Amino acid sequence: MEVLQTDTWQEALELKATHPDAVPIAGGTDLMVELNFGRFRPATMLDLTRIPELTAWGPENGRLRVGAGVSYTRLIAELGDRLPGLAVASRTVGSPQIRNRGTVGGNLGTASPAGDALPPLFASDAEVELASLAGVRRIPVGEFLTGPKRNCLAEDELIAAFHLAPADGPQQFAKIGTRNAMVIAVCSLALAIWPGRQGVAACIGSAGPTPIRCGEAERFIAGVLDEHDLWGRRTPIPDAALTRFGELVEAAARPIDDVRGTARYRHHALGVLARRTLTWAWEAHRCA
Ligand SMILES: Cc1cc2nc3c(=O)[nH]c(=O)nc-3n(C[C@H](O)[C@H](O)[C@H](O)COP(=O)(O)OP(=O)(O)OC[C@H]3O[C@@H](n4cnc5c(N)ncnc54)[C@H](O)[C@@H]3O)c2cc1C
Repeated sequence: MEVLQTDTWQEALELKATHPDAVPIAGGTDLMVELNFGRFRPATMLDLTRIPELTAWGPENGRLRVGAGVSYTRLIAELGDRLPGLAVASRTVGSPQIRNRGTVGGNLGTASPAGDALPPLFASDAEVELASLAGVRRIPVGEFLTGPKRNCLAEDELIAAFHLAPADGPQQFAKIGTRNAMVIAVCSLALAIWPGRQGVAACIGSAGPTPIRCGEAERFIAGVLDEHDLWGRRTPIPDAALTRFGELVEAAARPIDDVRGTARYRHHALGVLARRTLTWAWEAHRCA
């Protein structure tokens, strides 16, 4: 196997253009599993770990631009206050060793419906920045992911970064697994309260071909908060509204039966996660 290495972003783009079959490797926590089990043997790999641009983050036009190669450990430590939903999700990824190596760029590259970083990106209307020698394009994460383990990365492109708004209210992420750590989600839910635009965003993970935004549930709860002036009064959300929110999240899911759980269980669990995460986040907002 040929391994291409460079420490400049420009050269990485040039190598990808001249070797379109070269498979990029960042943390390697997905890729090396495939290699070690003999499921995948690319002729050429492109090592991205030495490129400083990929591990940088900073503000850009009122949003945050986070390099595709920022590890989960760094996201938690350095961006936990600005991106709390993504930080909670990052804490559930693998083990400390996996979080030290694994990156959101790799989660986007693998495009698994169970990728834990993905629902928080959806709940923050994130965009993915793709680059090639031809230029840069930014596309909404919901368009980037086109199906299970599929994305719209062109063969000469690399994932440069993702862009999203810093939180202006509480954010939550909850994941169901068969044990507490080192587990692929049976299902998950990311929830973000956006007081600035008086909205709530919710996104389901691991219960459909891609993460699924829960538009109807979001519109319903925004209506309740508005109608009862809960943004102003900061009183608890009525139980009936929490129940209905859970039902609408449940209805948005498109799960299958597989080794990790049944579709029926996933539907049920998502209703519970929806009520729970909304209660946690709204309580945090009320008491802030
Ligand atoms: C023990 C274990 C536990 C795990 N637990 C979890 C978990 O709880 N939750 C979870 O979501 N995942 C989990 N994973 C999977 C994995 O850690 C994550 O998907 C991680 O985000 C992958 O990132 P990486 O940098 O290691 O990707 P890599 O393995 O380096 O790459 C993954 C894919 O993305 C592509 N890629 C990477 N970077 C770029 C780029 N900049 N441009 C273009 N393509 C790119 C690669 O070509 C490859 O196709 C686990 C893995 C292991 C081994």
